[in-house]
Amino acid sequence: MKKKTTTRQSRTSSAATARAVRTKMGKTTAAKPTTAKAKTVTVPPRRAGLKPAAKRVAAARATAKPARTAAAKFVYAFGGGTAEGNAGLKSLLGGKGANLAEMAGLGLPVPPGFTISTEVCTHFYAHGRRYPTTLLAEVDRHLARVEHVVGRRFGDATRPLLVSVRSGARASMPGMMDTVLNLGLNDATVQGVIALSGDARFAYDCYRRFVAMYGDVVLGLKPQSKTEIDPFELILERKKHARGVTLDTELTADDLRELVGEFKAAIRDRLGVEFPEDPRQQLWGAVGAVFGSWMNDRAIAYRKMNSIPETWGTAVNVQSMVFGNLGDDSGTGVAFTRDPATGANVFYGEFLMNAQGEDVVAGTRTPLHIAQLERENPRIYQQLLKIRRTLERHYRDVMDIEFTIEKGRLYMLQCRVGKRTGAAAIRIALEMVKERLITSREALLRVEPDQLNHLLRPTFLATQKEAAVRENRLVTRGLNAGPGAATGRIVFHAEDAEAAVARGEAVILVRIETSPEDIRGMAVAEGILTARGGMTSHAALVARQMGKVCVAGCEPLQIDYSSGEMRVAGSDLVLKEGDAISIDGTSGEVFLGHIDTEPSEVVRVLIDRSLAPDAAPVYQQYAQLMQWADRARRLQVRTNADQPDQCANAIAFGAEGVGLCRTEHMFFGEGKIGPMREMILAETVAQRRLALAKLLPLQRADFEGIFRAMGGRPVTIRTIDPPLHEFLPHEAADQQVLAEQMGIPAQRVRDRVAALHEFNPMLGFRGCRLGIVYPEITEMQARAIFEAAASVIQSGTPAEPEVMIPLVGHVKELQLQAAIVRRVAAEVMAERGVAMKYAVGTMIEVPRGAVTADAIAGVAEFFSFGTNDLTQMALGVSRDDAARFLIPYVRDFEIYERDPFESLDQDGVGVLIRMAVDKGRGVRPKLKVGICGEHGGDPDSVRFCHSVGLDYVSCSPFRVPIARLAAAQAALSDNKGPGATE
Ligand code: PEP
Ligand code: MG
Repeated sequence: MKKKTTTRQSRTSSAATARAVRTKMGKTTAAKPTTAKAKTVTVPPRRAGLKPAAKRVAAARATAKPARTAAAKFVYAFGGGTAEGNAGLKSLLGGKGANLAEMAGLGLPVPPGFTISTEVCTHFYAHGRRYPTTLLAEVDRHLARVEHVVGRRFGDATRPLLVSVRSGARASMPGMMDTVLNLGLNDATVQGVIALSGDARFAYDCYRRFVAMYGDVVLGLKPQSKTEIDPFELILERKKHARGVTLDTELTADDLRELVGEFKAAIRDRLGVEFPEDPRQQLWGAVGAVFGSWMNDRAIAYRKMNSIPETWGTAVNVQSMVFGNLGDDSGTGVAFTRDPATGANVFYGEFLMNAQGEDVVAGTRTPLHIAQLERENPRIYQQLLKIRRTLERHYRDVMDIEFTIEKGRLYMLQCRVGKRTGAAAIRIALEMVKERLITSREALLRVEPDQLNHLLRPTFLATQKEAAVRENRLVTRGLNAGPGAATGRIVFHAEDAEAAVARGEAVILVRIETSPEDIRGMAVAEGILTARGGMTSHAALVARQMGKVCVAGCEPLQIDYSSGEMRVAGSDLVLKEGDAISIDGTSGEVFLGHIDTEPSEVVRVLIDRSLAPDAAPVYQQYAQLMQWADRARRLQVRTNADQPDQCANAIAFGAEGVGLCRTEHMFFGEGKIGPMREMILAETVAQRRLALAKLLPLQRADFEGIFRAMGGRPVTIRTIDPPLHEFLPHEAADQQVLAEQMGIPAQRVRDRVAALHEFNPMLGFRGCRLGIVYPEITEMQARAIFEAAASVIQSGTPAEPEVMIPLVGHVKELQLQAAIVRRVAAEVMAERGVAMKYAVGTMIEVPRGAVTADAIAGVAEFFSFGTNDLTQMALGVSRDDAARFLIPYVRDFEIYERDPFESLDQDGVGVLIRMAVDKGRGVRPKLKVGICGEHGGDPDSVRFCHSVGLDYVSCSPFRVPIARLAAAQAALSDNKGPGATE
């Protein structure tokens, strides 16, 4: 019984193309359409979330549907004074391509290149991995333009052009797809690079990196198991060993030249193919690999996790290379225009001198803080600060940028809207309103409702943390990459994390550095700890996006995957897989053992009341945003709560009533299960009434507590719903104990359990069926509700009971139960001499109830959609048994986009809801309608509820703020005014 009850309780917890060519000076001129059918549609700037003053950019806004004729345009140029695209063309050019074009249009220094559109990706997959026939010639034309601008030629042995080939989807998918750098190198062109750079070592370093990357990404020479070392890495390590050096930088030009040969030999030996020397062959190989990577496992996993449709496809960006590793006047970096962890208005980033861009993001060297660049190269630093301002004013948002300095010249390689923590999202939105960059309604639309979870995150219990420090359990420190506190057992591999979590264990995923392959393990881990990498490393970015606790770049950690051990430099400490550790993603500290966590600042102010609001800046930001949200929303937000303390929490989070009080949860309270069992085991009506008489004062006290806690707000109380056997023991020994306690033969308990047994408990003797067969139960519950309300009213607190009958499929069921409730209400009011407002309504959770909602509305004064049961019955999917096939249904087969028990199946269950609302209000225009299934706290489902005109959503207390924001966003998106959509 306990198990069953837990399950039930857990349900409650659980381009016409833009042909605008812009000059470097920022003027926009419409280029001649190359096809007669091409059509340019101008979209207002706000739609793209850009500054309205940026009219020249606005003029280039276009929708992303090129004419599908033989001469359709598939390739878009950027840089070198040209920008055929712009930030409004993300669906066509991907985020990276669109923003490169936008930056080029702003006159920022973008190395020239071109973007092959996402339409080519769609074509590629629809035509057996073949390209449109015109693509080859189009790419050749664009390559020729780049050659002209840069003054170098692709494949030329004296002045070779090298390019990067990178993916770029509409939504950012950090590191999930493939990239190839230094493309165009071969044994002849490398000589040209030597001549141009005057640096043979640099040239061969680029060459060996290129061969390894190409060999891995395009040709597929990769480790075959989780413990196998990367084949190219192995050859490199052998070379260093043979030369007696430890660092890559200690290898000479000759060493690196030899490595190129050895890498090529490995490709030949292991794969039976020759490394292609022809740059055009290289280019098409890389383009194919990038398009191909749209369907790799990690990209698929990431898309599923982030609800990115497969149909979007990726674009491919081909861009002339600039080098950050050409000496001490070169470098590379990544930065955010504001701190993405806290939201503070400071330039925030990292750089490395004499390094390739990938060195920073891959986390193979730990970079320096961006402020140090001021000392290193003040001119470039000032230029970056200016770009920071330009980008923020233009995009009116925090941007995440990638840059390279080549021999003292700054180049912008990427910009995109920066990912941020929930706390940062709120702070940035609020401060940008003060700075008049955005409006308050835009601020509301900028914060993802689920990001509010970040503000409700725990921190370590101060006393336990202090004790851990005293006990020398603070073993090391890393970067505070993802705020919050987490504790769990060490696992070193993502798949082990998944397995451990499936067994019910809490884990911390510990990696030297994470890579996109680790995405699933990161998603299930409590926290992530890495030995290498900075604040913008893969681990840090992805963790922040997921809202995971993360400590990155913890250099003292020496992790040995093969032995499953981790050492901490400077100590004898050896930690093994399975050992408990705790990490503080806010301070970067790593502790041995388990440390309990405590709630967030918002929780401390609102729930624990242990912190004054004026001493809580994060709380204040939260409160401001919530105030705006409440002004904007139409939907009311109620809570599902069965206890006064839950009600109090929910009110603190802004709940406006109780949408569902599951009375059966009360029966498990102190002293109640006994009389409840007596009632179930009663053999006569008289015996049952006797047991119910014992339950009456207990239930009445429960209801009084709730009415008092809710202080006059509406409270919907549902009559008993679960099958009665859930309240009886199923084990023989427990049945024996119960029989002895009650002084009845054990056989009687066994017989009763057998009589109440159901083959499908969800479709059996439950819901209103119980109150119809045993009307005295409903009678007792109604009496407890009205007597409690009467007492509360008489003591001066208003109370407004709404009695809700569950599982109604036929109007007669409701008539029978409503008659009892109304009779008892009249009796109690007469007995106590109090008049009170009350309502009798029903849950709509049986499809027949939805279909006959007009008849039902003749009796019901309100409807509340029980979408847990409605989903179960509409889909024919048992809510308790669904996991084993629903997970592959969503993850592997994409039958449903999301778990329909988590996010409403709008095309199925949603149609039933819409129909029931229409039918119900057709009969009773003022019918109050809400939702109390788990979907009431899911932002997408809340938006749906708004669109079908529900009056309220009801969700668990901690989801109330999320529902308030989602409801506000739904209302704002409904209004077609400026800033309503982003
Ligand atoms: C529902 O079915 O959506 C509901 C709220 O009731 P329960 O989860 O208690 O069945
Ligand atoms: Mg239900």
